[in-house]
Amino acid sequence: MATSTSITETDRTFLAQCVDYAREALEAGDEPFGSLLVDEQGQVRFADRNRVAEGDHTRHPEFAIARWAAENLNPSERAAATVYTSGEHCPMCSAAHAWVGLGRIVYASSSRQLMEWHGEWGAEPGPVKPLPINEVTPGMEVAGPDEELSTQVKALHARLNGISHN
Ligand SMILES: [Zn+2]
Repeated sequence: MATSTSITETDRTFLAQCVDYAREALEAGDEPFGSLLVDEQGQVRFADRNRVAEGDHTRHPEFAIARWAAENLNPSERAAATVYTSGEHCPMCSAAHAWVGLGRIVYASSSRQLMEWHGEWGAEPGPVKPLPINEVTPGMEVAGPDEELSTQVKALHARLNGISHN
């Protein structure tokens, strides 16, 4: 069964870095999402942000992390690693994460929150249903959202959607 854990202070430090990458993505004309792969020793091994602006909408950072991990880490290193992300994995990235055998996921904002924000702003829904991670990969250990950081993520998505956010 799914295990839900709480966000620690160490987690929050990594999540704040993800939000920085999300902001960098937005400032580069992309969608505001950023993610980190942290190994068992607490070292950041790979970090990326959304890169869909050129037209390939599979270029999510969590998907890039799964592929990097498959090429560069052995199965036990992957299982012991944690993936931090500014926004909860989409179904494609949840599946990729599970297929390569990565460990815990910690997110600053949830897919449910993003859906609510889009509803609030009248944004068009995307082509993929925003299922929570545990709907796609029921055994995955997850934590999130974080109340304060999700407010920062909302502000970035508001800018993307042309909403002035106070
Ligand atoms: Zn994704």
